[in-house]
Amino acid sequence: MVLGTYKEVVTARSTDKQIQKVSQDGGIVSALFCYALEEKLIDGAVVAGPTDEFWKPAPMVAMSADEIIAAAGTKYTFSPNVLMLKQAVRQYGLEKVGTVAIPCQTMGIRKMQSYPFGVRFLADKIALLTGIFCMENFPFVSLETFISEKMGISMELVEKMDIGKGKFIVETQDDVLTIPLKETHGYEQAGCKVCLDYVAELADVSTGSVGSPDGWSTVFTRTEGGETIFKAAVEAGVIETKPVNEGKFGLEMLTKLATQKKEKAMKEIDKRKGMGLPVPFKASSEKEDPLANV
Ligand SMILES: Cc1cc2nc3c(=O)[nH]c(=O)nc-3n(C[C@H](O)[C@H](O)[C@H](O)COP(=O)(O)OP(=O)(O)OC[C@H]3O[C@@H](n4cnc5c(N)ncnc54)[C@H](O)[C@@H]3O)c2cc1C
Ligand code: SF4
Repeated sequence: MVLGTYKEVVTARSTDKQIQKVSQDGGIVSALFCYALEEKLIDGAVVAGPTDEFWKPAPMVAMSADEIIAAAGTKYTFSPNVLMLKQAVRQYGLEKVGTVAIPCQTMGIRKMQSYPFGVRFLADKIALLTGIFCMENFPFVSLETFISEKMGISMELVEKMDIGKGKFIVETQDDVLTIPLKETHGYEQAGCKVCLDYVAELADVSTGSVGSPDGWSTVFTRTEGGETIFKAAVEAGVIETKPVNEGKFGLEMLTKLATQKKEKAMKEIDKRKGMGLPVPFKASSEKEDPLANV
């Protein structure tokens, strides 16, 4: 299953105008957390909050809709949200924790729940794990370097960053700048080369832009818990949905990108294995279905 196991896949967006304004795509992550907070399905969420440095995120525990909304939008670098989960329970006293994670972090959280060494107090408290699609990520200095040197703009003038149609896109107050994505090659985090998960296969609900029109998101409900919360949010009118496009610009595109990511990573894994280097331990091109992640 190149797109992981899922119950349903739809195109969706938040109906809240404030969320639509600040969110990266359909605002699904923010809408779900705001809804879950209001309904007391979670009592806080670990999100990638803003810091003093423009576009450098840091994990924060958001306990109100305002805090969730202040952390909306994609930052194309690492926000070690997993680190904050312990604190969310120990320092903030949360009993039902929500969090947003890129696929590798999602794997870390599931592993922690399966083998809760030293985190037994936390393992059962993750009430909503929202995963976001991820093709690659950049160390903060890389991001800063190619934006300032290749795009010629300083980080504080950037209002939004995006990746789409083979381009890295930066929006300022009155301009849209782009560079071909291949110009960012070499700036990625090296570990991403052996990553086999594009669509956050282990999340409760996973979402991303690919496969849906601008301003909308593709959403997979994967677990029973995820499905229940997503459906309740739709019923409450917080999220609107339409059928996902099954064709070239919908699921086909997602399947193509997820397959490409896995195949490329598998080649790199084989290469590293040949050199005696450590690789993700479950990955093996000799498996019956080498593209299966778990
Ligand atoms: C490094 C990276 C690469 C991505 N690559 C793709 C891709 O190839 N294809 C695709 O379809 N989508 C990709 N996405 C996901 C996409 O950019 C959106 O994040 C996703 O569609 C959610 O948008 P939204 O409008 O629902 O969320 P919003 O309502 O805008 O909320 C986004 C949430 O994500 C959190 N967040 C932001 N940056 C990070 C981060 N670095 N780490 C963890 N959490 C973060 C925010 O705090 C916020 O809670 C990528 C995201 C990241 C972080
Ligand atoms: S490509 Fe994989 S390893 Fe790299 S940041 Fe995205 S999910 Fe993590």
